[in-house]
Amino acid sequence: MTSNSESFDAARALIPGGVNSPVRAFGSVGGTPRFITSARGAYVTDVEGREYVDLVASWGPALLGHAHPATVEAVQRAAEKGLSFGASTPGETRLAELVAARLAPAVERLRLVSTGTEATMTAIRLARGATGRDLLVKFAGHYHGHSDGLLAEGGSGIATLALPGSAGVPEAVAAHTLVIPYNDLDAVRTVFAEHGPRIAAVIAEAAAANMGVVPPDPGFNAALVRIAHDHGALVILDEVLTGFRVGPAGWWGIDQEEPYTPDIFTFGKVIGGGMPLAALGGSAAIMDHLAPLGPVYQAGTLSGNPLAVAAGIATLEAADAGVYEHLDRTADTIAAATSDALSAAGVAHVVQRAGSLFSFAFAESAPRDYAQVKAQEAFRYPPFFHAMLDAGVSLPPSVFEAWFVTAAHDDAAVSRIVEALPAAARAAASASAP
Ligand code: PLP
Repeated sequence: MTSNSESFDAARALIPGGVNSPVRAFGSVGGTPRFITSARGAYVTDVEGREYVDLVASWGPALLGHAHPATVEAVQRAAEKGLSFGASTPGETRLAELVAARLAPAVERLRLVSTGTEATMTAIRLARGATGRDLLVKFAGHYHGHSDGLLAEGGSGIATLALPGSAGVPEAVAAHTLVIPYNDLDAVRTVFAEHGPRIAAVIAEAAAANMGVVPPDPGFNAALVRIAHDHGALVILDEVLTGFRVGPAGWWGIDQEEPYTPDIFTFGKVIGGGMPLAALGGSAAIMDHLAPLGPVYQAGTLSGNPLAVAAGIATLEAADAGVYEHLDRTADTIAAATSDALSAAGVAHVVQRAGSLFSFAFAESAPRDYAQVKAQEAFRYPPFFHAMLDAGVSLPPSVFEAWFVTAAHDDAAVSRIVEALPAAARAAASASAP
């Protein structure tokens, strides 16, 4: 049997850092990443045959749990009919129909792509094409994928690795992105007062979840849309992570106390049910600027891949109200148990929550922006993480990531998590500042 460390050594000889996405490398928590051979329901199994209760869920897509029978069967059936045609399929229209029904009336048209990065990249080009303007506003700590203009003060791996951005991004490109603090409407007003006529769009995670979870203040998204529209700019609501996860219509669907409609939505993760699929959607008036109808070009050899579309349809069709209720209840239970264990061990913390997404900040009060997130006692997370891993619970290997529950997290899986918590909380308590 191969061990995790042998697998990592072999991978490092051929793959930069041994990983194909940086956060998988355990850089901020230390130790050896687990090499996974299979996953089912709420569990993943590594090359050593060890099973873990999984709270990563492939970073979000596994809404129903890993290898959900309906999704697997749909993919198998699709595979038998051909892996890719490079032509349109009825399934693409069916998936668009499911999304449009959940996000009516805001999404009239949907364009399928393969990754969240492509979705946000295209959304920005579309916003620039539709407005004839060049500047983009983003929030510090928000992550929208790894395209050039979006890495400035990004969350997720950029936050984990403590990078201000990325090498290889031309200054001229970076200069077109204006970064402002999150949950700060004065900063939004100021950036528009200074650059209004040149701003094509503001892009925002619907609820930030790539610097840990940091929900928008009540009414923040609605005010953002109002201010942007007052200046003739568009709003791109990035629901790659929250879409179809925190509710049937994503964060937007549960954030309508003060109604608002963004101009472009981006989706990923759950919409592909674990296969490479993402999308952008919005009104016909905006979306029809895309080629072949309009002058904004976007394309993809594997866009709308039939296997990915089959997985997406099966996932959305199975994700009914009961699934979302289960996710909320499960998140309640795990978040409360974790908080209790941390309190019992005397660890200052706050539970950060956005629907069924949650994370913990090692701080006295709830961080509302990236600067506050970075000021927490992040050094408490690695020992906490490793104690959980040793006890058979796989958490995201960074304090700057959300924990993901699935419909397959049943009482047995939750009990295993709860049993592991006291020792992990004690490990967090005894951690000392570097
Ligand atoms: N937008 C958000 C909010 C995300 O969380 C992510 C990935 O985590 C992306 C965009 C990029 O998606 P992908 O990793 O599929 O390129």
